[in-house]
Amino acid sequence: YGLELENENVRNYLNHLYETVIVRNPNEVEFHQAVREVFDSLVPVLVKHPTYIKHRVLDRLVEPERLITFRVPWVDDEGIVQVNRGYRVQFNSAIGPYKGGLRFHPSVNTSIIKFLGFEQIFKNSLTGQSIGAGKGGSDFDPKGKTNMEIMRFCQSFMTELSRFIGPDLDVPAGDIGVGAREIGYMFGQYKKIKGAYEAGVLTGKGINFGGSLGRKEATGYGTVYFVAEMLKENGKSFENKTVVVSGTGNVSIYAMEKAKAFGAKIVACSDSNGYIYDPDGINIETVKLLKEIENKRIKEYIHIHPTASYKEGCDGIWSIPCDIALPCATQNELNQQAAKLLIANGVIAVGEGANMPTTHDAMAEFLEHNVLFAPGKAANAGGVAVSSLEMAQNSSRTTWTLEKVDSKLQTIMKNIFKQCMEASVEYSVRGNLVAGANIVGFVKVADAMISQGVI
Ligand code: GLU
Repeated sequence: YGLELENENVRNYLNHLYETVIVRNPNEVEFHQAVREVFDSLVPVLVKHPTYIKHRVLDRLVEPERLITFRVPWVDDEGIVQVNRGYRVQFNSAIGPYKGGLRFHPSVNTSIIKFLGFEQIFKNSLTGQSIGAGKGGSDFDPKGKTNMEIMRFCQSFMTELSRFIGPDLDVPAGDIGVGAREIGYMFGQYKKIKGAYEAGVLTGKGINFGGSLGRKEATGYGTVYFVAEMLKENGKSFENKTVVVSGTGNVSIYAMEKAKAFGAKIVACSDSNGYIYDPDGINIETVKLLKEIENKRIKEYIHIHPTASYKEGCDGIWSIPCDIALPCATQNELNQQAAKLLIANGVIAVGEGANMPTTHDAMAEFLEHNVLFAPGKAANAGGVAVSSLEMAQNSSRTTWTLEKVDSKLQTIMKNIFKQCMEASVEYSVRGNLVAGANIVGFVKVADAMISQGVI
């Protein structure tokens, strides 16, 4: 009975704290969702180690150290002044400088930035590197903008952001809508404002000015390395498996490439308009050409490969039967109904390449039906892990080979898997990597916070 009582006390504490989070952050549904998932996972840890409650670690963890919003005025090609809102959340610096991407997308708001920043705490901790957590971006919509408009926007965004970041303070990178081009423009503006070459202030830079080989591929490759470990643990592999991957951005393209290299057949991928299905296996070079070079919609694919078909809308992609599903597009793109369909069609594993792409109900569905489930904060940590390797190269003024970076990435992903698995065993939820990832990510940050006192 003693343990049950402790359990109940912990649950009461967490429920109360969760209510406080909702009251303090009204309408921030994505942020609430991310917090709830972590709280659910931490019950056994708090029962075993009440010191985390005594030090009010979670009460502190859910409150960002700082949330900055700013005006981003810029002039479009017609000479008209446009105004967007910029954000940076500096969520937690217990284990290193704030680190996390910038997202440019019209859906960006405080809730999205805070859920992403909160996830980043655990993800960055899991990498084993010394990086704290941040996230930022803007409600700016890059779609349909010219190169010069993008440049002017990035310059204005950085004019303001520059006063809050630095190589030992806060190191942004890319996310949705922010790739090497945008990082380049922002880096140029930062350099001009500071009057110094601080290479490590941004990651995801171009290869010829301080970027790391392998950074572009890291998130997608890392996701597949993680899922491969999860499959191996269960006596399975990617070999001859049918895979559906949502998205056609950086994460999706390189997840497809590595899954194919591991012997899988990729039959579908999507963009924000719709999805393609190619029973012969998606030609990844064509996807790269359309998306990375020509900046076209994925529906153009069927003109090059007539055996493929295209359907409008993104949800439908999950109705395609597959063994492994890799949601690599955006948050909450895979709902309970989609999860049920995937399960009915025999899916054996799901790996989150995107941040929180699976809704709470859908995740519960997978766990209940013993579908192997790799949560994003563990599975997609390869991107930020290689960003940290980029910072290491920048501070030591060295450039590593692609082989060196990739081998370190593989080691990091294997370690993350191993630790999540071990934590799931230690806390009697064997194989539940959602709980495992939240626990491992939390413990390192929590211990660091306690060591550093009430700050
Ligand atoms: N935006 C990526 C993420 O969600 C990468 C962040 C980074 O490299 O700092 O983890």
